[in-house]
Amino acid sequence: MLLSELKIGEKAIIIKVKGYGAFRKRIMEMGFIKGTEVEAILNAPMKDPVKYRIMNFEVSLRRKDAENIEVISLQEAEEELRNESKKTSNNQRDIEITDIETEKNIINLAEKKSKVINVALVGNPNCGKTSIFNIATNAHEHVGNYSGVTVDEKQGSFEYNGYTFLLTDLPGTYSLSAYSPEELYVRQHITQKKPDIILNVLDSSNLERNLYLTTQLIDMDLRLVIALNMFDELKKRGDNLDYNQLGKLLGCPCLPTSARNGKGVKELFAKIIDVYEGKDTLTHHIHVNHGEEIEKRIKILRNSIKEHGYIDEMSSRFFAIKLLENDAQMERKLRGLDTDGDILEQRNNISKGFQNEFKTNLEDAITDAKYGFIRGALKEVYHKSKEKNINKITEQIDAAVTNRYLGFPLFIFFMFVTFFCTFFLGQYPMDWIDSLFAWLGETVSNNMPDGPFKDMIVDGIINGVGSVIVFLPNILILYLFISFMEDSGYMARAAFIMDKMMHKMGLHGKSFIPMIMGFGCNVPAIMATRTIEDRKSRLITMLIIPLMSCSARIPIYLILVSAFFPSHAALILLLLYFLGMLLAVVMAKIFSRFVIKGESTPFVMELPPYRMPTAKAIIRHTWEKGKQYLRKMATIILFASILVWALGYYPNHNNFNTPKEQMENSYLGKIGKTIEPVMEPCGFDWKQSVSLLSGAFAKEIVASTMGVLYASNQESIEIAQAEEVDSDLRISKIIHNNMTPLSAFSMLIFVLLYMPCLATVAVIKGESGKWKWAIFTVCYTICLAWVCSTLVYQIGSLIL
Ligand code: GDP
Ligand code: MG
Repeated sequence: MLLSELKIGEKAIIIKVKGYGAFRKRIMEMGFIKGTEVEAILNAPMKDPVKYRIMNFEVSLRRKDAENIEVISLQEAEEELRNESKKTSNNQRDIEITDIETEKNIINLAEKKSKVINVALVGNPNCGKTSIFNIATNAHEHVGNYSGVTVDEKQGSFEYNGYTFLLTDLPGTYSLSAYSPEELYVRQHITQKKPDIILNVLDSSNLERNLYLTTQLIDMDLRLVIALNMFDELKKRGDNLDYNQLGKLLGCPCLPTSARNGKGVKELFAKIIDVYEGKDTLTHHIHVNHGEEIEKRIKILRNSIKEHGYIDEMSSRFFAIKLLENDAQMERKLRGLDTDGDILEQRNNISKGFQNEFKTNLEDAITDAKYGFIRGALKEVYHKSKEKNINKITEQIDAAVTNRYLGFPLFIFFMFVTFFCTFFLGQYPMDWIDSLFAWLGETVSNNMPDGPFKDMIVDGIINGVGSVIVFLPNILILYLFISFMEDSGYMARAAFIMDKMMHKMGLHGKSFIPMIMGFGCNVPAIMATRTIEDRKSRLITMLIIPLMSCSARIPIYLILVSAFFPSHAALILLLLYFLGMLLAVVMAKIFSRFVIKGESTPFVMELPPYRMPTAKAIIRHTWEKGKQYLRKMATIILFASILVWALGYYPNHNNFNTPKEQMENSYLGKIGKTIEPVMEPCGFDWKQSVSLLSGAFAKEIVASTMGVLYASNQESIEIAQAEEVDSDLRISKIIHNNMTPLSAFSMLIFVLLYMPCLATVAVIKGESGKWKWAIFTVCYTICLAWVCSTLVYQIGSLIL
């Protein structure tokens, strides 16, 4: 019977919990575990929730939930015992069964009943479901090499290894949408009959299409076992399929079978027992990743559904996805629940927004994403004996882009184009903004009365913020390229060709995308590690992302490079970016060996179809970043500039004759002098030390602090103008007179490596869940920076 039917005061033993994964987990965590005794203590027919006692705890459960728990009550047990005794003793009169006897036997009865496994066969038409059904149940259902042979469900049972299997052969379907009666039928069987295990039968010679249904079963969060049927045909063709790896990627066991001659069927049912008993180590629930844009929307809708407490017969994720696919049956279901219609309205808005932005409807995009997931999985585990002629555009491009010899040079070329445009095309608008700020400074300084206020405006704000804001064009260009590579689908391929190399450093190909994004900004890059399903790889990726040179470091690079190495700018920049990546590789290797223990679990790298990104989406992505940058200027960088200026201006501003004397005696000078000894081995004076210290807030502040520190008065500007320095940036000219090239180079390396900005530290804490990792990142990066800069400076000093 069902737990919901248990009367007050009655006791029962739990036989099994039905339903989808997350539901079962929640119920089992409440204590409703197979073999446990449960007593109903409050169960009025119309009342909800119902109260039970398990293991001396009182638990209340919604009636709907209690309907998912199968139990055997003492009364039922008594009856069964009596029937059995009647059979064996041949005695007609009633046999007395004592309570003690019942209590003793009920556990055994429950155990026996829990060894009944309901299995539903789900798969495309013609993949061999009925053949497997026949072999297992020894039946002779009609098999046929055309679809539609099984029109309704067929039941059959058999015993194996002490278990009773109740098998249901369902009609073949390509998908779980509600477009055909078969699809609806299968879906309803799953959500209403709640089989314990779904046996998903695949035609191994046509995996790409067959796996589509599998991705939907995964969305439903069901206990799955996959039969890779017609494996004989795959073998005959000479193809190779790593089914163990496929199982790991999909989070459910995949076993080869040949239903025609019965090969592998025994092993299949042995595996079903393992999964049913929760003994299969490979089984875990994965999410088929639909890509950031779609996942974001699924999450929004799913959260609203959950908030309303709707839907309990299926996973809310599946429900949300189906709603986004305009599934008519799900809509009807929702209308029945969602009386205000606000969830439906939300769904409509999401769909419309998506359509507007990406010029494609969400339903198609979800299908594409699923095929991207499948393609990614197959690319890793499936090896054809010889390439067949490829005709789809996606496959043609893929053949070139992921080619063993071409892939890597192509990738280097794309990166080169990205950085070339970032730095060299960005030069022009950068100069315009620089002159604008020069003009602004002059105008203000000519038109305002002398005093601290004017000094603050000119030296603090205009010099500080100005020296950072000039780099906005570079950053926008960099983001334009990163967005384009991501949205077009190229980035996923880049990750694919990097996979082997990433594995060598204890990472996963997917780590590569966040790393490239790290060139833009470390904060979204660290958030993007969410797509890495394996915890170990994810954590390591997070820890090394700060070594990827983010765009906030560009201002400092450009200031120092144009001051000292204007003729070798490209070379130095390239060197810095590569040094960052090289050290990231080294640190990843060290972390995976010594710091973060544990095995990595593999997962799928999706290969979404190529798509020309819409201008709108690219511009939005780019502009979002630009807006963030400007907001940072208006808040933290403005604040830091004023603070740095004030610390350099006070105390006793008017008591000193030269600006140099003034600076040295200011608060800033004192702070700088205090940390100078520590920084001396790296070749930094107190001004450099202070600049670096201020960069702890945000790396751009190093540049703005330098702007304030070095360009602090008219005198130094005149000096700079008199000098013949081959640089357009004002600040670079001044710095040229105040630093040695070696010290500047050492500083470049320090800036590249040392601690991530506060926002990054916070996001590492947020994403890893622990302060420990945030603090660890700060410490290791500072140490690394100090060691590298010291080495460069000390060795450089010896040579020069
Ligand atoms: P269903 O539509 O999924 O129920 O598929 P059937 O069980 O009716 O099988 C469809 C066809 O595939 C039949 O002709 C079977 O004989 C054939 N078939 C089933 N399993 C295998 C297999 O493992 N290998 C080969 N070569 N053929 C198979
Ligand atoms: Mg059939």
